[in-house]
Amino acid sequence: MKKCEKCGTPQRNSHFRCVECGAILGKPLSEAEEERMEEQISDYIADRAERTETFYITRLDKIMIALDILGILASVLYLIFGPKNTDGQGICLFLILIFLLAGIDTAFPKIAWILEKWRVEMRYHVENLEPSDWYLITRKIINVVFPILAYMALLFVLVNT
Ligand SMILES: [Zn+2]
Repeated sequence: MKKCEKCGTPQRNSHFRCVECGAILGKPLSEAEEERMEEQISDYIADRAERTETFYITRLDKIMIALDILGILASVLYLIFGPKNTDGQGICLFLILIFLLAGIDTAFPKIAWILEKWRVEMRYHVENLEPSDWYLITRKIINVVFPILAYMALLFVLVNT
């Protein structure tokens, strides 16, 4: 295997010029280099294949999961060190539940889908249901909007108690 030094395209040893950019190619890669190149290619393909999955966890999802965990930690800290016997404690308990549910649903979207699928299949007697784009989009929005509202409520509690 050869690799174009100009554009990085891998190609056959028999090629003299790059099929992509036309640059003159150098010597074939060493065995170790070729192995590494093949690994990169299969990693790339695996990554692309994963992205076509309906429930692919995006970068935004990962950020939201981290924010949900932080929200739970902040609420727990408030419960431990904040003023006692206030409305703030009740609100914080409720917020922990919101962060927890949003976090679990973002990290394991299939759980909610299995429940929803089961509910719809029972009710309408259909089979092999696939999630609609509408279902997927509303779910994503909910999992972003609810933690943001929960953070605002947490801020409200911290300012007012
Ligand atoms: Zn090239």
